[in-house]
Amino acid sequence: MAAKPRRLIVFDIDGTLLLSGPLVRQLFAQAFAEAFGVEAPHEGLAFAGRTDRGIVRALCELSRTTARFESGFPAFAQRYSELMGRHYPRAAGPFLLPGVLPLLEALQAEDSVALMAGSVNLESTARIKLRRFALDGFFARGVYGNEHEDRAGLFAGCLALGRDELGWEGRAEEVWFVGDTVADVEAAKGLGARCLAVDTGPPGTGDLDAAGADARLVDLSATSRVLAILLA
Ligand SMILES: [Mg+2]
Repeated sequence: MAAKPRRLIVFDIDGTLLLSGPLVRQLFAQAFAEAFGVEAPHEGLAFAGRTDRGIVRALCELSRTTARFESGFPAFAQRYSELMGRHYPRAAGPFLLPGVLPLLEALQAEDSVALMAGSVNLESTARIKLRRFALDGFFARGVYGNEHEDRAGLFAGCLALGRDELGWEGRAEEVWFVGDTVADVEAAKGLGARCLAVDTGPPGTGDLDAAGADARLVDLSATSRVLAILLA
């Protein structure tokens, strides 16, 4: 069995490792309309900070279909995954952000490190996104937005997964979350963990420094600098 990791490093996906463009939102809205029989209210498609499960619940509240949330969510998830699996692998919009591949390769080579994905996506769609850029092999473990409705719960789930399945016995303040939004910073700080914030997310993700990011970079391209932060 592998040695117990000393360090837990959790990566957000969208805006941190890759960007997907408008396609994902269109497919999300299509799947919602098919699963619940109503158009997704446009104002409810404010995705930042919410998990996919949380967004569907918010859309149900706005479209007065809350009573059908529990029964409709599995149908939504299945349809959204089908649409993503069909369109995402060859779509023109998505791209990998700079420096991601060499950074993940360097971190994977560190025996002390356990890498984890902490993503608001459904696990199935997160894997479709990661696979397109050959990143799925770095993230055998992850906590996803089909299990949690808010990021605080999702990030807490990452620490629990580290303890329960990886034998990690460290303290929260030794864990790094890497993300692109104020919601990432706040959820990490709320756990007493640290957050490396990157400026590669979509515009309007808020003031990352004011939120209390422990470190901030324009992107992840300066591999040795990122490693110095995460492995200090
Ligand atoms: Mg993000």
